[in-house]
Amino acid sequence: MTNEIFLKDSVNLIKGIGSKKLLYLEKLGIVTIEDLLNHFPYKYKDKRNVVFSGKLIDGGKYLVSGRLIKISTRSYGSGRTLVECILDDDAGKFGVSFFNMPYIKQTLSIGKKYSVYGTVRIRNGYKQFSNPEISEFNSSKDTRGILPVYKCTSGITNNDFSKWVKTALEASDVSYDWIDSNIVNEEQLCDREFVYRNIHFPESESHYKAARYRMIFEELLMYQLEIRLNVKDINKNVDAGIEDADINDYIEKLPFSLTEGQRKCIKEIEHDLVSPKPMNRLIQGDVGCGKTVVAEAAMFKCVKAGYQAAMMAPTEILARQHFEKISEEFAPFGIKTVLLVSGISKKERQDILNEIKTGSADVVVGTHAIIQEDVEFANLGIVITDEQHRFGVNQRKSLAHKGASVNVCVMSATPIPRTLAATVYGDMDFSVIPEKPSNRKEIITKAVYPESRDRAYIAVLNELKAGHQAYVVAPSIDSDDDNLTSVEQLYSELSEKFKDYNIALIHGRLDAETKGRIMNDFLNGKIDILVSTTVIEVGIDVPDATIIVLENSDRYGLAQMHQLRGRVGRSDFQSYCYLVNYSNSESAVERAKAMVNLSSGFDISEEDFLLRGPGDISGTMQSGNYQSHIIDLCKYKDILDKAVFWADEIMKSGGKTDLTYVRNHMLNNYAEDNSNII
Ligand code: ADP
Ligand code: MG
Repeated sequence: MTNEIFLKDSVNLIKGIGSKKLLYLEKLGIVTIEDLLNHFPYKYKDKRNVVFSGKLIDGGKYLVSGRLIKISTRSYGSGRTLVECILDDDAGKFGVSFFNMPYIKQTLSIGKKYSVYGTVRIRNGYKQFSNPEISEFNSSKDTRGILPVYKCTSGITNNDFSKWVKTALEASDVSYDWIDSNIVNEEQLCDREFVYRNIHFPESESHYKAARYRMIFEELLMYQLEIRLNVKDINKNVDAGIEDADINDYIEKLPFSLTEGQRKCIKEIEHDLVSPKPMNRLIQGDVGCGKTVVAEAAMFKCVKAGYQAAMMAPTEILARQHFEKISEEFAPFGIKTVLLVSGISKKERQDILNEIKTGSADVVVGTHAIIQEDVEFANLGIVITDEQHRFGVNQRKSLAHKGASVNVCVMSATPIPRTLAATVYGDMDFSVIPEKPSNRKEIITKAVYPESRDRAYIAVLNELKAGHQAYVVAPSIDSDDDNLTSVEQLYSELSEKFKDYNIALIHGRLDAETKGRIMNDFLNGKIDILVSTTVIEVGIDVPDATIIVLENSDRYGLAQMHQLRGRVGRSDFQSYCYLVNYSNSESAVERAKAMVNLSSGFDISEEDFLLRGPGDISGTMQSGNYQSHIIDLCKYKDILDKAVFWADEIMKSGGKTDLTYVRNHMLNNYAEDNSNII
């Protein structure tokens, strides 16, 4: 069976993909063979070599093997079972334990040899794996190699993906190249077939690196071409100028006076708005510097001049918060604000769409639901994208297309060097808010280890006693993940510990209504401690929250921790951030140190740069959010320069590069998260 399937064919041509699996795949945005092949592993398991237990380093991931010499069972928690094993690999003994998996005991027998893959913890010389993968040594399940780990969904396993991708690679012709062969030759890029094979099943580290290089080049080139095509499409010399409406009424009503930076930004925006050339501006300012009010001033001006304004936020929680705030502030001026998110009823949605279409809604706040095709505006004057680093270029742009000549303003807390910004954002203008409001105190940050974790909660108690509020953040929802702290665990633990206070739990799996209600209660002080996953990472503004505890801080990148820390320190109260670090790995310790020592987003991002170093095979390849995307763009400055060069060449002389392919790529990328390989 060779070359019988084409990239554009449906995945159901692959053996094993029936109607059920087809639906699950669709949920991941996978419809065609090409989609399947572009569903890259987000990390790999290095199961090439078995490592002797004597060589293990705490916190590392390893494949070990050994003979089972002891197995026992005991209970823990409320009626849960812990299976404890001891294995011996001649170099020594090590422990393997399984939490809440009582059935595992029946599958293991004393004296047999097993392969174990997972993270090792070493305490007082004793080596221990918790809930690792285990299989009989050299059995069919004991696969060796650099193995892909895919983002899965319920109904589809990692094994499914491996199998399907293998089949797709065998059966389909993947040689088509949208990039001009001259460029491929000059840049010594590997061909696409090589890329697909080695991104999914790397033959060696060097094969993987070559494939990855090409994918990064390809993505950067694609991105540069999109920016150029987009500029060509948008700048159609339409007059986007609005009447010079006065915004003093709004500014005077604010409960604070603007900072110098805010004032300057607003001036620049006002200038853009009245000039005929469509505004295309990036507002950059560290978390907490007060970007929202700048956006509001811009929207106010547009509405007063007779236009509609739209604001898009990357999460529903943030969109709701903006909506509450904006509608309250604008209502006294007779401005009507509506909320458009995906978690609303059909009827409600239809009503809102009508209001937007007829112009009875002045301001529309929402998530990417705003850019869906059936949303029509009466007279859209400005589009603001908050936390722009969380979106791709295309979302921004497609919203801009909703109005014939729309002004675009994007806001981001990610500092990127000016020179690079031009390449990343195309022809955008920049405004910077360099300072925070003057009443702010620096957030005191402390790193603690599990042994001294109580110190974090003593600090929480102190803040609660002072009438303030607290966030406690953990990386997972429930605890089926190996060693992660889960918010459910935390919630029950803290409910015990803080009996006299109101505690609530929030995470992405709750329905939109519930999330909205909890956030409101927290904002209004009805909740004292909010236990949360990273759904509160960006934008959330609850000034009375003065302490945030990041459990398993070792699991977060620096940029993400900085954003999370930015949830506090939003008033004149002293605020605190506690990092509970569960790992001794050097990089986790370095990151914690950086957080303790550095407070500005700019310093943090530079440090991030240094600490991340060159990508390595066991690291996460598919970053999954735009923030790291940009940081990685900095990291790949050399490749970016090449992409810029070739994009200009292509726009000048064309060559054999397939621009239709680029345009289609642009149109198809409406997914919430469209960062691909970097
Ligand atoms: P970010 O830049 O992170 O989006 P926000 O716009 O959410 O920041 O502002 C953070 C907090 O600071 C909000 O509670 C806001 O009301 C407040 N704030 C904004 N500007 C000022 C100012 N000039 N003086 C005092 N507080 C301000
Ligand atoms: Mg914000």
